[in-house]
Amino acid sequence: MSNNTGEPFRYDAEVRPGEKRHIMYEVGESFLGDPIEIPVTIINGVNEGPRVFVSAAMHGDEVNGVKVVQEVADRYDPQELSGTIVCLHVLNVPGYRSHLRYLPIYDRDLNRSFPGSENGNEGKRIAKVIYDRFISQCDIGVDFHTSTRDKVTIFHTRADMSDPAVAEVANAFLSSVVLDGAGSEGMMRRVASENGIPTITIEMGEAHRYQPAMVDLALENLHNLFAYFGVIDDEFESEPPWQRIVGSKEKKWIRATAGGWVDMDWGPYPIVEEGKSVCTISDHFKREEHVVVASFTGLVIGMAANPITVPGQIVAHVVSIDEDDRKIIEEIVDEQGYSRIGTYHWMGRRVTPKEDLRRSTDEPTTPDEPETTESEPERGTA
Ligand SMILES: [Zn+2]
Repeated sequence: MSNNTGEPFRYDAEVRPGEKRHIMYEVGESFLGDPIEIPVTIINGVNEGPRVFVSAAMHGDEVNGVKVVQEVADRYDPQELSGTIVCLHVLNVPGYRSHLRYLPIYDRDLNRSFPGSENGNEGKRIAKVIYDRFISQCDIGVDFHTSTRDKVTIFHTRADMSDPAVAEVANAFLSSVVLDGAGSEGMMRRVASENGIPTITIEMGEAHRYQPAMVDLALENLHNLFAYFGVIDDEFESEPPWQRIVGSKEKKWIRATAGGWVDMDWGPYPIVEEGKSVCTISDHFKREEHVVVASFTGLVIGMAANPITVPGQIVAHVVSIDEDDRKIIEEIVDEQGYSRIGTYHWMGRRVTPKEDLRRSTDEPTTPDEPETTESEPERGTA
């Protein structure tokens, strides 16, 4: 219902209540001296209400969120809004043009450059314009990311849950898995949240990929968030049906212990079991097999997308879960499959139960290949 109480939205121009405006906004200059412009849509509702920004491609190769923002910009009508939706389609335009995470060519991380500065490096200058013109004019924010290239991440939220205002945003987005923490210095969500603009980061899928099922989930959750905060008039849930808030000590990057080919040993659910094999790394002749063992039972929230590894490279990102969590995760996977929560390449238990049993032991075992005249093969555990 319209009561026409909306206010103009000001960046350095004005978008009047009831107007949707698409603009290209200059945030810097390219090496040719021409403007770097970011695509922005401002949907200013006829009624007053909170101002929510949604942003994507802070890292230029993380494109799932670009589709989310494009859809938001298209589907909401200012005549039906109470408040404002500010769509920052592509924050890092130079990176996006080059399909690169960072600002080319000196690898500035735009997401460590906030709130920016007028006299700083090129990243800080761009951040300053984005922050002053758009972010600081908003009340709430959702910033969309994916994993870095050659990694996969399930759909999850990163948010400072110790801040009640941020937790409210995370819950309104129906965040099931939340990595709790304020984030690094210079991160947009951290700076915005500290300045009273509670902001969360959504991680979804892979860099360089368009994963429609996850985009749809993000749009559904955003719709719930808009309804919860009264930006749109619709039914909403106040929190997700299940939530796992993960503290800093409850997650672990599991790293390769050898170079070679990685075979994941978990499945069919994205769960690794304490004391059991996460993956086996083998050389080309299968003379050496290194088993990477899980130190706790956990949900695989991320993993390498590339099966070729060297010692120290990440093979999986795992968060601890209890038995109740496990049941719910299994139900979700049984009901929805994997597509909505994430992609798991080359996932699966490709070993027989007997082999699995052998691999689950902590003690090194003797390989069962026939004796050869070559040097003694070794098998190690890690
Ligand atoms: Zn990112």
